Amino acid sequence: MERGVHLKNLLIMKFGGTSMGSAERMRVAADIIAGQKKLRPLTVVVSAMSKVTDLLLETLRRAEVGDKSAVTAGVAALRARHLEASEQLLGKSAAAAQDVEALVNEFQRIANGILMLGERPPRSVDEAIAIGERLSATLLARFLQASGIKALAVNGGEVIVTDAVFGNASPQMEATRQKCIAKLAPAIEEGIVPVVTGFNGATADGRPTTLGRGGSDFSASILAAVLDAQELWIWTDVDGIMTADPRLVKDVAVLDEVTYAEAAELAYNGAKVLHPRTLAPLVEKQIPVWSKNSFALDKPGTKIVSSFDEPKGARAVTSMSDVALVSMEPANAVLSGTRLMARALDALALANVEILVLTSSSYRQTFCFLIRKHDVTSAMEALESNLSIELAHGYLRPIEVDGNVGLLAVVGEGMRGTPGLAGRVFTAISRENTNIIAIAQGSSELTIGIIVRLDMLDKAVRAVHEECQLGKIAAVAEPRA
Ligand code: ADP
Ligand code: ASP
Ligand code: MG
Repeated sequence: MERGVHLKNLLIMKFGGTSMGSAERMRVAADIIAGQKKLRPLTVVVSAMSKVTDLLLETLRRAEVGDKSAVTAGVAALRARHLEASEQLLGKSAAAAQDVEALVNEFQRIANGILMLGERPPRSVDEAIAIGERLSATLLARFLQASGIKALAVNGGEVIVTDAVFGNASPQMEATRQKCIAKLAPAIEEGIVPVVTGFNGATADGRPTTLGRGGSDFSASILAAVLDAQELWIWTDVDGIMTADPRLVKDVAVLDEVTYAEAAELAYNGAKVLHPRTLAPLVEKQIPVWSKNSFALDKPGTKIVSSFDEPKGARAVTSMSDVALVSMEPANAVLSGTRLMARALDALALANVEILVLTSSSYRQTFCFLIRKHDVTSAMEALESNLSIELAHGYLRPIEVDGNVGLLAVVGEGMRGTPGLAGRVFTAISRENTNIIAIAQGSSELTIGIIVRLDMLDKAVRAVHEECQLGKIAAVAEPRA
């Protein structure tokens, strides 16, 4: 079915956790929505109120170890935070308070199940943690209604169809498109603003899933792609995509434009401002994305575009600290390095472990790869069971895991056109007395990844930002035609 004429110019706006963090912030979001609603059809995607997902996850962890009082306290905090926001937004509305109670009770029921079981099935965790977004969506939709804007809270599980990788699910785009056309398009055409929960989806047979931490950005881009949106605006708490994490580096500058490829590299290499998978659904249709600050509405934000007329060299530096380096080495020639790598990669793919950086040495046949810390247990289980015979017979040296490392990445279109850049970056890092453990340059030549000791990571980021004068480059960037 083709979309109706009223879906033309559709704007998708996503509000992150801080932009939904209190009644006051939700009022600002509602004002932004009211302003845009006058201009074009809208769909809104929301995160849970800030820190709520952490609270839900921690409460479930405490439930698993039998800590009943922590569960009681977690549930009480969840209830209090949302009842307070509800009262501040909607006064004594019984209906709003009932929505909150019903959702909090749903969470409590799942937490109690985990308490009894002493185990946290991933599927139950996904069902439980999406309740954060369901609470914030209900409150915002009710507040919009009360302010005279027709709105409808929608559970992302009803419109985003995913595979069954709980905790890190991937969308099935065609099935999602059909659901969105059936459920969202008629509402939008009637002038209703759907307020869709970010972060969650469901399998085709209805099992709840989530898209990974920070996944509301991804939800919004999935909806933008399947609904052929004109633009996607991501509202957050900083002025846009910056030359480095502003919590780490003082003299950062906002980038006025970045390409999809740059934004994706930054996100994959740890820039929390965007979920790593946000850009992928948008590239094919070239849907423009804006990263904007809901705390500074006068700031233009960063526009994410397909390409620049002129490449601009290094543009930003980013880092990841929650990573581990796994090293593997054959003990003798019985096991070839290539065979070992193939077996290891196959095992990791089956265990859904994502490899962030991979380097190898052809002479010693060793190779090492960087993964997220929270994947270490499943990676090691997969590798050790797949290679158990080789390990038992001593063909493969014991697999080593080093959790005391961090990844720094310098990103920019046209870095290859900047002679000596890699050398300058390495020198700047070495000047800080920091050893470089491994280097990886992606085939796109858009990114240089450098693995250093964890305790030197922040220093290295600052040194590279300074050496490449990233704050200055962005500030004096040529205006584009
Ligand atoms: P939201 O809840 O709106 O999704 P996040 O906390 O997920 O917000 O992402 C925004 C945060 O990302 C900023 O507050 C900032 O500290 C951090 N950040 C890290 N790297 C960058 C960067 N290069 N540019 C902008 N922000 C960054
Ligand atoms: N609430 C989820 C999280 O904190 C998703 C998001 O905010 O994007 O991870
Ligand atoms: Mg985020």
